[in-house]
Amino acid sequence: MKLQNKAMLITYPDSLGHNLQDLSDVMDKYFKKAIGGIHLLPIFPSNGDRGFSPTRYDVVDPKFGTWQNVEKLGQQYYLMFDFMINHLSKHSEYFQDFQKKHNESKYSDLFLSWDKFWPIGRPTQRDVDLIYKRKDKAPYQEIKFVDGSQEKMWNTFGPDQMDLDVRTKVTQNFIKENLQNLAKHGASLIRLDAFAYAIKKLDTNDFFVEPEIWTLLNQVKDYLKDTPATILPEIHEHYTMPFKVAKHGYFIYDFALPMVLLYSLYSGDSTQLAKWLKKCPMKQFTTLDTHDGLGVVDAKDVLTDEQIDYTTKKLYQIGANVKKKYSSAEYHNLDIYQINTTYYSALGNDDRRYFLARLLQIFAPGIPQIYYVGLLAGQNDIKLLEKTKEGRDINRHYYELDEIKKEVHRPVVKSLIKLLEFRNSAAAFDLNGSIKIKTPSDHEIIITRTNKENTSVARAYVDLKELKYQVKLDEQVFIF
Ligand code: BGC
Repeated sequence: MKLQNKAMLITYPDSLGHNLQDLSDVMDKYFKKAIGGIHLLPIFPSNGDRGFSPTRYDVVDPKFGTWQNVEKLGQQYYLMFDFMINHLSKHSEYFQDFQKKHNESKYSDLFLSWDKFWPIGRPTQRDVDLIYKRKDKAPYQEIKFVDGSQEKMWNTFGPDQMDLDVRTKVTQNFIKENLQNLAKHGASLIRLDAFAYAIKKLDTNDFFVEPEIWTLLNQVKDYLKDTPATILPEIHEHYTMPFKVAKHGYFIYDFALPMVLLYSLYSGDSTQLAKWLKKCPMKQFTTLDTHDGLGVVDAKDVLTDEQIDYTTKKLYQIGANVKKKYSSAEYHNLDIYQINTTYYSALGNDDRRYFLARLLQIFAPGIPQIYYVGLLAGQNDIKLLEKTKEGRDINRHYYELDEIKKEVHRPVVKSLIKLLEFRNSAAAFDLNGSIKIKTPSDHEIIITRTNKENTSVARAYVDLKELKYQVKLDEQVFIF
């Protein structure tokens, strides 16, 4: 199914029930109208990072199901799959072959050698300091080869995620074949995971390197040109970077909104939210929550430094079970700039505030995404977090089918489902339409969405202090 202007669920294949079949049943039973598309978090065999260290893309991990299960979902929902353009598993056949045959392997150019990358006498400490990294050591791993030699290989993320050399022919072929295969299996969107790390270039910080990054995105676009799939490049950084990506015509994520809305709902101030919504493009996916933590750098200069400080402090005060240590090395946090929590718990498990956050999200420019824990207004899962000592697991609860059956009857979840159904069916949310934002006072906001033909108007009024709202669609009042 082609991409539609309808809310997208983000879920692992084994989070709503145990596998893709369960997911399919859950969707049909409860969310058929609330959800139009699904971002299926990695479904491939993988050796770590909950699927983000794939060994291959041509099969579905049998513990989740088969391509048939995926394609069946794809008949009802538009689908997004992940493609890890920066790395591939150390346990993949490709890397194993390379380790075995070293320079004789046909995959020797697939991976990026740290040793070969640097000219003699480098990297200096200055070179290493310059690299944009999310861990506090140089991003390489010393690999032992069967021939007895050793070589340092580029390794940006976890110990299993070996960086690809995207400049080489063998890697380009790998990317092309796999992307086209994903499109064949029903992807209408392909999320280019961590794409800004993919280009490494001497004397740069190796992040979002221009103009090479545009060449790479163009190549990817070109590989997919005869398929129905488009790409969604994923980048967590200063909003000016995703905005540049948008200027090149791609869909982007709004990762600033989560912090902006927390700030608005903690402080009661509507002015920053209004400013931000006026800036955002329509061709974007909005988020409040994902499988990662809440992005703090994403909100830099959208909120002032003081407002970001205020929001993070409040998050630890008001948030239910939100603790600094859950986003630290003690809990294996991969990204030092993210805070681990569910969005519901970030708002103190408060139904009213949470509903208002979602209401404002669906009126924001773009297509709303909702993470499965968010869809069920889930609380921080401290039990799972302590079991695994993985910070991000606080927001990765495994729902049993019986549990889902109960959760969907909670008033907040029922309201949310109604709200999403409303969003998906109202013509006013047309991405080619217009949006008007007003702030009658510094604690109120009015967002008006109108379709291109001017035949449908949706309007939301929210008072962030009194926590009140009013929604009208074509003059009819809606209560959720
Ligand atoms: C994903 C993370 C993942 C990382 C490495 C991302 O940005 O969202 O979950 O750990 O890329 O693949």
